[in-house]
Amino acid sequence: MNKAQANQEIHQPLLSSKAKIAIIGGGVAGSTIALRFAELGLDTTLIEKGPSLVNGPPFCHLHAGGNLYREICDQQCLTLLQQSIDTVKVYPHSVNIRPTLIALPKTDHGQPEDLLPRLEKLRARYAELVAEDESNKVLGEPEHYFRFYSRAELDALLDLPLPSEAKDHRDWLVAFAQHVDLDRLKFPVLLVQEYGLSAFRFAAITNLAIARLPSCHLHTNSQVIAITKQENSLGWQVSTQHRQSQVISHQYYDYVINACGFKSGEIDDMVSAKRQRMVEFKAAYVAHWSKCQGLWPEVVFYGERGTPQGMAQLTPYPGGYFQLHGMTQDITLFDQGLVASCQQSAQPKLAPRFIEKIDKQWPEQLISNRTLGSIAHIAQFIPAFSTAVAAAKPLFGAQQIPGEDADLRAADVSFYGKHYARAEIVKASSALAAADAILKNLVECGLVAELELGKYLTEHYFPISLQCTAAEVTEQAIALAKQRDYPIALAKNL
Ligand SMILES: Cc1cc2nc3c(=O)[nH]c(=O)nc-3n(C[C@H](O)[C@H](O)[C@H](O)COP(=O)(O)OP(=O)(O)OC[C@H]3O[C@@H](n4cnc5c(N)ncnc54)[C@H](O)[C@@H]3O)c2cc1C
Repeated sequence: MNKAQANQEIHQPLLSSKAKIAIIGGGVAGSTIALRFAELGLDTTLIEKGPSLVNGPPFCHLHAGGNLYREICDQQCLTLLQQSIDTVKVYPHSVNIRPTLIALPKTDHGQPEDLLPRLEKLRARYAELVAEDESNKVLGEPEHYFRFYSRAELDALLDLPLPSEAKDHRDWLVAFAQHVDLDRLKFPVLLVQEYGLSAFRFAAITNLAIARLPSCHLHTNSQVIAITKQENSLGWQVSTQHRQSQVISHQYYDYVINACGFKSGEIDDMVSAKRQRMVEFKAAYVAHWSKCQGLWPEVVFYGERGTPQGMAQLTPYPGGYFQLHGMTQDITLFDQGLVASCQQSAQPKLAPRFIEKIDKQWPEQLISNRTLGSIAHIAQFIPAFSTAVAAAKPLFGAQQIPGEDADLRAADVSFYGKHYARAEIVKASSALAAADAILKNLVECGLVAELELGKYLTEHYFPISLQCTAAEVTEQAIALAKQRDYPIALAKNL
């Protein structure tokens, strides 16, 4: 008996619905929705044009409070907090547990105290969520959600030995205090419990769990090329083309979910669904700092987006590997990298030079220039980081932002007519909320019986996904990192 058959025996579907559901796109959103539905026993088909799941734009940070974004409203931050907590509970082995240290350079227009009112709201909300349900306590004790550190407190760490493991929150600050040019910063600095989210480990969990769920039918290397409304029915005929054999097949589905990320507009256009959205191309870089010493939290130096002083972000992985972002036009952002849809098409048109980067590859010189630029951007604050070297091709991609507000960070789903939904997440942690909203819509459409679903309409039921062990996630994540040509350090936990 193989694993899938064994799971079929232990995994009895909760729902008797015979509805056939198609999810187009196996990124974070599509894979999470597929898991949510298949865990309940719904007949779910996941169609992905690439060879494996969760291989779109990168992610590294779990936005458990949205503290990287001063410009967004408090409500978005509270939403991101709740969604991140849910994400940790469903994908525990995708999380790198270490805090984020946020510092304001002296050149920045803001003051550290400006952050306090929102942090207090977030801490209070986290305490409420933990009081409602102890299993929500995934970010440590609520009273330790954030803490400010003065210059004197950092100076007191200058002569301490570098800790190799964190026994105390202060241990996360020792390497920072000893390597960062503290004279360039405003004080206090902020330590907040926003963790790392590993894209390779997330991909590993979805690949492992989907293979074990008998009611999830995965078609990789399959591109959706047409969708037509079926007469006398609310369902759709979906036409897919196999990318190697070129064979075209047609299949009927009762409900279609468009989870195509930055290509969602192409699917909207196939069904003539109008939608205003933006698409943004961005990149992160991978560096190896062989002289790296001590424990590093994620470090963020605030700055004004799009200017040469744009935010600098250093995300640690084991063995001295780091993922770098710099919110300047020469590092993470690109001239004309943000485009909007128009009246005629729901698909914003990125310039061909971006599509070439996504579909083929980057010119070597550009990789080198931008990665070295990202290292120099961080080295302004951490001088010793200037010895770091480029360690891989960039991590990059385009993402969608629904609507007209380029600062929107907490979004999940929208619907068009009946039996058609679009996942429109901006952050990876919003994928579960998208799945929840579509499940509710399946109930409203009469495709799933509310009585049968019971508490699992709102509660997350992921028994098979949660069976994935840390060891097998690491093994699968390393295999994916090798397959995609990235250092295996990016697949390991800190
Ligand atoms: C540089 C960068 C850094 C980021 N950092 C973070 C971060 O730290 N934290 C965070 O939460 N978020 C981050 N994001 C955002 C995050 O990457 C996205 O929100 C997320 O990947 C979107 O997932 P998705 O499933 O909606 O889309 P995608 O991951 O793009 O998935 C869509 C899938 O649809 C498939 N597809 C498209 N068309 C078709 C078709 N016709 N037929 C079949 N399949 C199709 C594609 O192959 C793809 O696999 C970052 C984004 C970028 C660009």
